[in-house]
Amino acid sequence: MNIPSLTVAEIQQGLQARSFSAAELAAEALRFAEAENPKTNAYLTFCPERALAAAARVDQALARGENPGLLAGVPVAVKDVIVTHGVRTTCGSRLLENYVPPYDATAVVRLERAGAVIIGKANCDEFAMGSSNENSAFGPVRNPHALDRVPGGSSGGSAAAVAQGTAVVALGSDTGGSIRQPASFCGVVGVTPTYGRVSRYGLTAFASSLDHIGPLARSVRDAALVLEAMAGRDEMDSTSADAPVPQYAAGLDGNVKGLKLGLPREYLKDVTSESGALIQRAIDTLKKLGCEVREISLPNTEYAIACYYVIATAEASSNLARYDGVRYTFRSRSSESLRDMYRHTRGEGFGAECKRRIMLGTYVLSSGYYEAYYRKAQKARSIITRDFSDAFTQVDAIVAPVSPFPAFKLGEKIDDPMAMYLSDIYTITGDLAGVPCMSVPCGRTADGLPVGMQILTRHFDEGRMFRLADAFERAGAAAG
Ligand code: GLN
Repeated sequence: MNIPSLTVAEIQQGLQARSFSAAELAAEALRFAEAENPKTNAYLTFCPERALAAAARVDQALARGENPGLLAGVPVAVKDVIVTHGVRTTCGSRLLENYVPPYDATAVVRLERAGAVIIGKANCDEFAMGSSNENSAFGPVRNPHALDRVPGGSSGGSAAAVAQGTAVVALGSDTGGSIRQPASFCGVVGVTPTYGRVSRYGLTAFASSLDHIGPLARSVRDAALVLEAMAGRDEMDSTSADAPVPQYAAGLDGNVKGLKLGLPREYLKDVTSESGALIQRAIDTLKKLGCEVREISLPNTEYAIACYYVIATAEASSNLARYDGVRYTFRSRSSESLRDMYRHTRGEGFGAECKRRIMLGTYVLSSGYYEAYYRKAQKARSIITRDFSDAFTQVDAIVAPVSPFPAFKLGEKIDDPMAMYLSDIYTITGDLAGVPCMSVPCGRTADGLPVGMQILTRHFDEGRMFRLADAFERAGAAAG
């Protein structure tokens, strides 16, 4: 069993052929992940009991001759902003250092129902705020491809676990790029589905109108299977969509002939020449596969970062109000009055980035400023969304860089929040519009750093996005 190279399909074959049992695979995955973890700090918590119980259920189903599920036996890492019943869920924050949730997120329930084996909880930026995983209260994650570099963020632990090979797939969350950007930096596939495609029940809220759960995987097919297993309407999240969930993996036929693709000119301006050249080469491959590629414009892209940092901070300031020292776990010891207790708990519990966001968000929502900032940002969000609907009248999918640059050095941008925020210049737009988008690896720089290409499609058109990404992935494999 070579865990770092296993795919979901190989696990299924191995289980059916009785080459290994789910229990053996789970034990080996746990052993390997725990041994490798000191290199990257990708995991904050391992959950062997839960993993072995899930594996036992798979083995029992197999022994009874039942279908053990789409993800039977597959070792999964779950970002630590997604709650797990009985397994510590910290959100990368001191405030929740000892928080053990009394319930499971719907995505987690559905993955386990499909036979998945959750082995541990992945490190992340505190409350998913960040682009480098350096905002975790439990130390940064290192990029498995270059240990002095960041894995991206905020789902840095999830991306590193998959890249390092300790998890076959992982769950991340994306509010402004936190799945696609680390996927790109770590050379794995990362998918942000349509807003509402996957239930947010049990995803710790950062900016509710932008938050998504999505998969990270080593192949497009594996990511498609994970989405298939967890997507669909959930009574526990009124914003989850009641739209049929196709069998994404079955649609990966490699045929993308005649697909019309748009390359937004606004997304090429700030990209480094090396990343730009890799995207260009990817476009040439897509053309060889029979796609038509034309330049398009998403003219309001320049407003995306400002718009995002108004809306996301506003929603975050409201969502984070619940961490008050009364609910949840952490409470400051140095307080004489209730007011002081709130103040000290939040002062000691939150890290610098969360405080910055709470202050910004409180400011933009304050009376007198609401119209000028929050309302205005909502209007900007509408015109950015319209850019996408206009573009999708001309093209079937949009292809673009994920990030202007590859993985940067640990510490390089930590003192310059504005530079850090620019990491997400090409990913934020997809979240604002709520369209499905993903990162698929498209090559490496001369230093060996992975670079991802982004693919975006119409709302609920994940099927086409996967088909294109899979055809591209196969062409890359064929070219060696
Ligand atoms: N880097 C962005 C931020 O810090 C995106 C985070 C995310 O998608 N969760 O807000």
